[in-house]
Amino acid sequence: MSTRRRRADGGVAYLDVQGTLRERTVDALRDRTLRGNLDTAAASWGEGREGMRRDHGLDEMRERAREIRQSNIRNLPALLAEMQANVRDAGGTVVRAADGAEACRYITGLAKARGVKVVAKSKSMATEEIKLNEALDDAGIEVVETDLGEWILQLANEHPSHIIAPAVHLNREQVAALFREEAGTDDVPDDREGLVAHARVRLREKFAAAGIGVSGVNLGVASTGTICVVENEGNARLVTSQPRIHVAVMGMERVVADWDEAAHILQVLPMAAIGQDAANYVNLITGPRREGEADGPEEFHLVIIDGGRGALRGTEFEEALACIRCGACLYSCPMWRSVGGQAYGSPYSGPIGAVITPLLEGPSSPASRDLPFMSSLCGACGEACPVGIPLQDLLVRARARASSPATRKSGIAFRAWSRLWRRPATYRAWMAGWRLMLRARGRNGWVTELPGPGAGWTEVRDMPARWPPRR
Ligand code: SF4
Repeated sequence: MSTRRRRADGGVAYLDVQGTLRERTVDALRDRTLRGNLDTAAASWGEGREGMRRDHGLDEMRERAREIRQSNIRNLPALLAEMQANVRDAGGTVVRAADGAEACRYITGLAKARGVKVVAKSKSMATEEIKLNEALDDAGIEVVETDLGEWILQLANEHPSHIIAPAVHLNREQVAALFREEAGTDDVPDDREGLVAHARVRLREKFAAAGIGVSGVNLGVASTGTICVVENEGNARLVTSQPRIHVAVMGMERVVADWDEAAHILQVLPMAAIGQDAANYVNLITGPRREGEADGPEEFHLVIIDGGRGALRGTEFEEALACIRCGACLYSCPMWRSVGGQAYGSPYSGPIGAVITPLLEGPSSPASRDLPFMSSLCGACGEACPVGIPLQDLLVRARARASSPATRKSGIAFRAWSRLWRRPATYRAWMAGWRLMLRARGRNGWVTELPGPGAGWTEVRDMPARWPPRR
């Protein structure tokens, strides 16, 4: 079981991102099953979140959450130093990695040094970001994802579609087909409970073989050197306690000062993420197993990744570091809801992905050119964010930084447009021509194919044949 797959041409495919952003979004928009799956997920999140706002004061908790995270980012160097000292006092090892490559080198080196052949992982976006699975796989070490959604994606060889629900873009039938292919038999049930039971049996076999468990970190509590791992399936509890060695991978911004702050964020996180007032499991881990304790790993390693985060402090994008990776902005975004996370071509998708991926990957990356434009700037993301990150403002700033032939062309087009529309006569003439063209091309009240620059619009949607449309 591995992330490595042989392509038909004999090459190795790692979570391949196919085509350009435009090609991926057009493909996604044409996929009706995908749209149905995303609609179902977003509607269920919306219902849960509404309940949290109505009955549990989610909106009122936002200001405090924002204050906490802003203060964390302001005091980051001191908090990290305190966290490190306390983890070491508790018997753990702390490694500060400047980038993903350094973090991967450390973890693969550790696995080799300890003779580990199998690594069990719980869900972690940081390890997706640094491509840890690929690095372990290249080192000849088997990696097993134990979160159900991540395991499904490992079988499908795909990126997560959502920060919290990685396989949200797939439905039950699609998952059943993947399980059958992996098991090499049709004897896999296709009801929800049957699929979960099947995955449980397959994954439990792997826990026993794993020498290292790798988890992410939702929060690090500086005052005690404790990491918090939030989950709903119980697999992270096994990953962090059963194997002989536990490696926790944490983005450097995920640290809070103390338990007062942690308690508030840990309350807000499931409310915003899944519309529940508590997560099923909150694992609190301080160092390795101590003498006399019945379970827990013999070794605990905390790998803290910079990966471009440190450079964002003090810039116009600093607020993005406050993110607690709840995924609420994804579900609230009309763009993400239309195409899903796969189209973004990066581990982080939706509005926060469109902001941080270019920042983490650098100004010359394709993500920097394209992703900031994956938004309608409607502001729903900023409204949904439980720590009050003004995502729409950050997206506008990211657009201003992006420079590509497409953005330069659209700049010229908008300047010409603005000049044209400043004169009432040309505006009226334009609208009259536009109405005539719509009427000439309309069938049954709708235009299905526009010429020239309008072609992109009607490629995936129809347009009313009257403008403005009749109400
Ligand atoms: S930006 Fe806000 S809403 Fe989006 S994932 Fe981060 S914390 Fe959640």
